[in-house]
Amino acid sequence: MNNRYGSNIDNILVGIGPSIGPCCYEIGRDLAHQFTNKYENYNHIIIERDNKVYLDLWKVNYLQIRDKGVKDRNIIVTKICTSCHNDKFYSYRKEKGGTKHRMIAAIGLISNLEGGKMSTKILVVDDEHSIVELLKYNLENSGYEVKEAYDGEEALNMVSQERFDLIILDLMLPKLME
Ligand SMILES: [Zn+2]
Repeated sequence: MNNRYGSNIDNILVGIGPSIGPCCYEIGRDLAHQFTNKYENYNHIIIERDNKVYLDLWKVNYLQIRDKGVKDRNIIVTKICTSCHNDKFYSYRKEKGGTKHRMIAAIGLISNLEGGKMSTKILVVDDEHSIVELLKYNLENSGYEVKEAYDGEEALNMVSQERFDLIILDLMLPKLME
């Protein structure tokens, strides 16, 4: 935003929407170690309860954004757990993969509408192939040009090679941990 649009970081607002919370996001000890190693200056991102380990993804995302220089007061974390509120939201984990429904939230700047000649190009990133296919199908039917990536590394390569008007991505992606 800064490089491309000359945005002032003090004016950037970030919202972290509903997703699985630290109350429900149980992970293995291996992954917990990777997080504590990578983010050694982040406190309280791993929570131990009843001999189980939970990850606070909201906090990790919040701290990453703050580290980039976004003002504390400009970061809003909704703290709504989709797994606890399965009556209002779909949760892949809570429903043990039994739901065919997914949630996405997207925000974008559409800047290349000169004469309507160029179509809006969207990059969809998720390690779940069925989600990517579903999104691609729906977005293409709505007239968008869609490219897909299945992990963070692939997505970063694509972003460095071409420009996208919008990127829709999963919060936790393989190959962004290493
Ligand atoms: Zn929860």
